[in-house]
Amino acid sequence: MTQVPVIVVGAGPAGSVLAGLLAQRGIETLLLDKATFPRDKICGDYLSPGTVRLLDQLDLLDFVRSAGARRLWGMTVISPDGTTFTAEFPAITGTNGAPPFALSIPRAILDNLLLTWARGLGAEYIEGLRVTDLVWENGHICGVTGIGPAGPETYRGQIVVGADGRESVVARRLGLYQPHPTLHRMALVAYYEGISTLQDHGMISVGDRSYCILNPIGERLTNAAIVVDQGIVQGWKGQLNELFDGTLQAFPQALNALRGTRRCGSVRCLGPLAFRSSCSARAGALLIGDAAGFYDPFTGEGVGHALYSARLAAHTIASACADGDGGLTETRLAQFDHHQRNAVRGRKRLGVALQAIIRRPRAANAVARLLRRRQSLANLLLGIIGDLLPPHALLSPPALLNVLHRT
Ligand SMILES: Cc1cc2nc3c(=O)[nH]c(=O)nc-3n(C[C@H](O)[C@H](O)[C@H](O)COP(=O)(O)OP(=O)(O)OC[C@H]3O[C@@H](n4cnc5c(N)ncnc54)[C@H](O)[C@@H]3O)c2cc1C
Repeated sequence: MTQVPVIVVGAGPAGSVLAGLLAQRGIETLLLDKATFPRDKICGDYLSPGTVRLLDQLDLLDFVRSAGARRLWGMTVISPDGTTFTAEFPAITGTNGAPPFALSIPRAILDNLLLTWARGLGAEYIEGLRVTDLVWENGHICGVTGIGPAGPETYRGQIVVGADGRESVVARRLGLYQPHPTLHRMALVAYYEGISTLQDHGMISVGDRSYCILNPIGERLTNAAIVVDQGIVQGWKGQLNELFDGTLQAFPQALNALRGTRRCGSVRCLGPLAFRSSCSARAGALLIGDAAGFYDPFTGEGVGHALYSARLAAHTIASACADGDGGLTETRLAQFDHHQRNAVRGRKRLGVALQAIIRRPRAANAVARLLRRRQSLANLLLGIIGDLLPPHALLSPPALLNVLHRT
């Protein structure tokens, strides 16, 4: 049985960045993952400009860009009736003057890079270990149990962090995992090889209760993700390629962009996507990244949230260690949960508002027609969705009036 101060379950962006930040502060950390890296992850492979800014703040941006990440300057959006507009990420003041951009990079590369960075800083890492349960003592979590290549294992730690993604075992064992009551969506994701017509922009096509996002990656790869209601996928087990091809027909501009490419590999499916955790800190344990909840990939901010919550957890854990608290006190747990909730509250509302629009074709068409006429409003909205600007930049009446009067 091993004893360390901090155990992090899951070496995705949230877990690896937390382990790296703790290692930088000299806090011994054990990172566990059931997978063997580099491992794939179903994703749009898009890093929003807000995520790019966070990577920069963490001194990881050059590292990620040098791995071949491609810059994207905005999005082309197509509504159900074909209304099309292209929005650019708005140049915002207060940065180093460079125009804001998003990046695209396959998750197999990104996640391996972040794990390598954490290990280089001294984080201890064990792979191929599936955590199955938590170890409790006097109402507190003091370790995890799991199955590794050599059989059952137990690791004890003063602090346990669940960074184990959408299916979080840590959240479930803490009794915090709740399926989303109304949003039941599935994602179908495929890669296309060859030169697409997409230049330095992604493409979002909104359909009838579904949407399709294309992201160009590197020179010759395109990530295509289609999100549909769960009912559509039922009955297509074993025929995902056919389902994907059929669903793609509803997005003619996406089909057109992919002309001259061919699908490589099989279509992968994931869902239901949305779930929540009733709280992100309990019994001496923290939840970060997707383990703390996931809504919908439309806004492409999951990796950004993972990095943000990793940084918040690193701060919480480092403060506890500096004060000699050992574990996390109730006050620290409550503060962590409060900060994490506050950080996502505005964006959650934005996500719900966007879902309400994209699930109603007439509303989506009307909004697209407005945004096509108002370039500055379209750019502003993209800046908010890309996490460059806070949601209230759009919702505050003076800003809204200001933008609506500019064309
Ligand atoms: C279809 C789709 C498209 C998306 N597109 C985008 C996008 O373009 N941009 C974006 O920013 N976000 C996107 N997201 C969201 C993004 O993928 C997640 O928000 C992000 O991966 C969260 O990172 P994480 O570290 O919290 O979890 P993950 O990346 O899921 O990592 C969790 C890790 O925990 C490990 N693990 C899980 N269970 C156990 C266990 N029991 N024991 C040990 N290890 C375990 C897993 O192997 C994994 O390595 C998308 C999501 C979906 C579903």
